[in-house]
Amino acid sequence: MSITNFSEMGLSDDVIRAVEDMGFEEATHIQSQSIPLILAGRDVIGHSQTGTGKTAAFSIPALEKIDPTQHKTVQVLILCPTRELAVQACDEIRKFAKYKQGIKAVPIFGGQQIDRQITALRQGAQIVVGTPGRIMDHMRRRTLKLDGIRMVILDEADEMLSMGFREDIETILADVPDERQTILFSATMSREIIRITREYQKEPELIKVAHEQVTVPSIEQLYYEVPQGKKVEVLSRLLDVYNPSRSMVFCNTKSMVDDLVSELQLRGYPSGGLHGDMKQAARTQMMNSFKKGQIDVLVATDVAARGIDVENIEAVFNYDIPQDVEYYVHRIGRTGRAGKEGRAFSFVSGRRQINELRDIEAFTKSKIELHAVPSSDEVLETRFRQVQASIVAAIQSGALEQYNTLVDALLEEHSSLELVSALIQLLVKKDDKDSLPNRNDDAVFAAEYGKNRHEIAGKHAPRTGRGVKRQGDFSVRPRRDNADFENIRLSVGRKEHVSASHILGAVAGYSGLPGSSFGRIEIFQDYTLVGVPKGSADAIVASLKDCKIMRRRAYARREG
Ligand code: ADP
Ligand code: MG
Repeated sequence: MSITNFSEMGLSDDVIRAVEDMGFEEATHIQSQSIPLILAGRDVIGHSQTGTGKTAAFSIPALEKIDPTQHKTVQVLILCPTRELAVQACDEIRKFAKYKQGIKAVPIFGGQQIDRQITALRQGAQIVVGTPGRIMDHMRRRTLKLDGIRMVILDEADEMLSMGFREDIETILADVPDERQTILFSATMSREIIRITREYQKEPELIKVAHEQVTVPSIEQLYYEVPQGKKVEVLSRLLDVYNPSRSMVFCNTKSMVDDLVSELQLRGYPSGGLHGDMKQAARTQMMNSFKKGQIDVLVATDVAARGIDVENIEAVFNYDIPQDVEYYVHRIGRTGRAGKEGRAFSFVSGRRQINELRDIEAFTKSKIELHAVPSSDEVLETRFRQVQASIVAAIQSGALEQYNTLVDALLEEHSSLELVSALIQLLVKKDDKDSLPNRNDDAVFAAEYGKNRHEIAGKHAPRTGRGVKRQGDFSVRPRRDNADFENIRLSVGRKEHVSASHILGAVAGYSGLPGSSFGRIEIFQDYTLVGVPKGSADAIVASLKDCKIMRRRAYARREG
């Protein structure tokens, strides 16, 4: 059993106080295992995912190992892959060191004037945090002396290797004194990293930690790749499919709140807005109608929503990704209260926002899973089911005789089938023609989903094991199981520069099937294989007879 209490790890009071100031209540797994080992002088390999608190895992013991009598000597050298990470780690170290007299940490990275760094180093620092390239630079200029170094930490070693810093790292490690501790942290363990640990560490202790969950587990966090102009459509579909009794939608600007409220009202959703330009009386009134259930959807900015406490919010929508990571936690914390289930849906448009979402994941130590936007069929299916339920309920509640005369009159002119169908249509459409999902958008959403999914399947796969999960009441075909699929072959491939999103957009568009029904897409030089549901290959090939992808004619045939 490892110690999770910082005060039981043999740390100095100064550090314990600083940790308390930072609001860390318990040590994370990687921290509780590595801190005692590093304090004891061991070399350590820390293998754990992003967001598990690795910075503190090495900074805290590193600080404690500094010899305060040697305050002019660089004693700890920390290598980070990027300028941002170096600055971030340095800031965190300074926070842990705040009650320790005379401890100084200096960040050293490319892009900043070297003179400034030289001055900072000359003034004396015990800890240097930097990127390998710039550190090499200072070594060559002899502005960074390595002979007093007693500890080297490679943070995010895998990232450093993938950025091409291997030689620099090896040069640095070869130049620092042999009498030192070498600590390596990495989110993944490649053969190359293991080679480095073999060569430069002494009997290292490996600490491996599975991903830990820190945010409230009863909140299911999902995200959708949505083109900016389609967000209202996606929001409407999700409101229909999940049918939350009460939900909050967060936007980053006041004008977005106003626009969205009018859009939602047009589409027939009882909704209202809340933002900072509204008078207090109007805000209070809005809050009351939300609490009383007169509106189901409250659209708000972060500032206006501060301090709102309403029970039973079943869903929170991040219509825009919050500008501040901490807002995300505040936003989604409004659902799933008191052990109730809640869902948080985030909409992202474009690569930058996906990266922002990854930062949020790291910060919250949680998984936000990519989902496919429900297809228009799925939306209709839910509505049918709801209508069916309300009809059955009406029959069961009785007292229908009062309509007999009207029914008889209608039946003289129309068949009962016509009559019932017309009534159902009225119910399904909620008397509002605009509220039906737009079928044409299905292909767009499928393409976005495909694009994103394939990027994830490549680079980011180990970070967040994503799959498609059950959506509301629908089961969406799990996409990795190839047993349910057969392949069709399309005559375009890498040489035409097609991407998985082009392919998925085309096959979904021509076949009329939701993007979620397709399996693996493998792009080869001259052709592409697409997994289609077993038994459907011939029909899908037929639907693709006029298929064009990137303005090129693409021929489809059954594979095998
Ligand atoms: P990693 O390097 O593993 O990606 P970081 O060290 O950057 O993770 O930590 C991620 C976030 O978690 C930071 O905001 C950090 O302040 C916070 N954190 C780290 N340790 C703890 C802890 N024991 N309790 C609460 N928050 C923590
Ligand atoms: Mg880190």
